[in-house]
Amino acid sequence: MLSASDTDTICAIATPPGRSGVGIVRVSGPGCLAIAARVLKFSPTPRHAHYCPFYNVDDSVLDQGIALFFPGPNSFTGEDVLELQGHGGFYVLDALLQTLLQSGARLARPGEFTERAFLNDKLDLAQAEAIADLIDSSSAEAARSAMRTLQGEFSRLIDSLADKIVNLRVYLEAAIDFTDEEIDFLSEGRIGEKLSEVNLQLDQIMVQARQGALIREGMAVVIVGKPNAGKSSLLNALAGKDSAIVTDIEGTTRDVLSEQIHIDGMPLHITDTAGLRDSNDPVEQEGIRRAMKALEQADRVLLMVDSSRENVDNSNLFDYLNNTILSPLLPAVDSARLTIIQNKADLTGLAAERINPDDARQATIIRLAAKQRQGIELLQQHLKDCMGFQAAGEGGFIARRRHLDALNKAQQCLQQAIWQLEHHGAAELVAEDLRHAHQHLGEITGAFTTDDLLGKIFSSFCIGK
Ligand code: GDP
Repeated sequence: MLSASDTDTICAIATPPGRSGVGIVRVSGPGCLAIAARVLKFSPTPRHAHYCPFYNVDDSVLDQGIALFFPGPNSFTGEDVLELQGHGGFYVLDALLQTLLQSGARLARPGEFTERAFLNDKLDLAQAEAIADLIDSSSAEAARSAMRTLQGEFSRLIDSLADKIVNLRVYLEAAIDFTDEEIDFLSEGRIGEKLSEVNLQLDQIMVQARQGALIREGMAVVIVGKPNAGKSSLLNALAGKDSAIVTDIEGTTRDVLSEQIHIDGMPLHITDTAGLRDSNDPVEQEGIRRAMKALEQADRVLLMVDSSRENVDNSNLFDYLNNTILSPLLPAVDSARLTIIQNKADLTGLAAERINPDDARQATIIRLAAKQRQGIELLQQHLKDCMGFQAAGEGGFIARRRHLDALNKAQQCLQQAIWQLEHHGAAELVAEDLRHAHQHLGEITGAFTTDDLLGKIFSSFCIGK
């Protein structure tokens, strides 16, 4: 991994490959001005748009465009940055890149510009991740939430919590030094009160972070059922377009079809499983293998039933599953994660309805008509409820699973601190738990990180970012 003092000058094409009006090549590092002297043949004025030729190493003109120079530390990476905006042709940009490489730069690794910005304290780790999330956003909500994290909203909450924990530690450690007073000071109750306050604040951040992670990662849903139950029709109704083939011939869908849609900004990764027939046909076998994997990873499994032919509810669910789903798939389906969709309600004449079970171990039932798109909104609301999803209001920010893990660990340490205080009244042990809680919060913003973690985060970025 790179350190802030690395002196390599890096370059990369920052725009996507292909033909476009403009293509941008970025350079960052101490060699920018030397490279400018070779490629532009002059020293660019800081933060000034120069319209000029770009020269090849053999002094021929390879393109002309805009050159921008941002001297460090007032640049994206915190280092000298040169940006060359030329024409967006594959050959032109590649030739420009080759010239930069021959002039002393090396090719940037994925995310290396942002990594340098992080190492030079231009942004923290949660903000750096938000750049990738903003680029990957597939909905307005995701983009808005990523922007808020990029602007530091999530980090400010984490930092304010971390400050409180540090203050508490300082207070405790000062008391430890005056051991005579330790007992009084702990029994005063103020430490306990402050710990509970911090714990409550952490709880509130976790609620917001869970929403933020849902906006980013979404919900995985699998549709299972007999051929012709209406699985593809449901997929189409949810997706709002015809992506699966709907026919009257049984077993049309032989592969696992995946679709990503949004409900109020929550991404829904829907998988329509194969016709689930036991057959030696390798295509169907592969479909079954994929169905198995999707079932295991699903947040929710929708069992689609043609209610004009069969009546399925919690009383006969297991017998029905035994007869419907192939035996290797059965262990991957549990009723608490299952929703029975009684489809084709138009044929039975019953109104669309959601029936919640009395017992959380049982399946929810939703009666609807996929083809007629009746009751689809009941299902959408049910899916949001399953994940505890609320549409992102003002102030929602994007978060990642890794942030949730760190918040969980911080909370365990805080709870341990509260327990220590209540059961042993030992200030040293409470202070130690607080130190660990602080460290876990620091993993989110990057105040405490390992090279492995940074490598993992930045390698998933695109080149040139
Ligand atoms: P799959 O094999 O489970 O994917 O089922 P399809 O979605 O291909 O549907 C099978 C047949 O049932 C098609 O002719 C659909 O038009 C029909 N169908 C699906 N949903 C409904 C519904 O709600 N009402 C009625 N009447 N027919 C439906």
